[in-house]
Amino acid sequence: MRLSADRDRCAGAGMCALTAPALFDQDDEEGLVVLLNPVPAPEHRAAARMAVGLCPAGAIALNSPDPTGTTGSRDSPDSPGSPDSPDSSGS
Ligand code: SF4
Repeated sequence: MRLSADRDRCAGAGMCALTAPALFDQDDEEGLVVLLNPVPAPEHRAAARMAVGLCPAGAIALNSPDPTGTTGSRDSPDSPGSPDSPDSSGS
């Protein structure tokens, strides 16, 4: 999980700094977002998600790189039916 903040979009509302003060701050001049920690600790991840959702400017984002590299290859081991045809051709 990695956070990013776009100061060009930030409106200085401060929701991020209020919601996740361990991760965000605002600068003293313009009140724009300052990203304190782009890689939130596990105990801060919920607050990070909440801050992303609350930002009125859409200025902060969460990226979740997939370190396991699991791509969408679903293999379902289903049996293809039972092709047993009752051959009861007696004479
Ligand atoms: S909540 Fe969004 S708009 Fe407000 S300070 Fe944080 S990044 Fe900027």
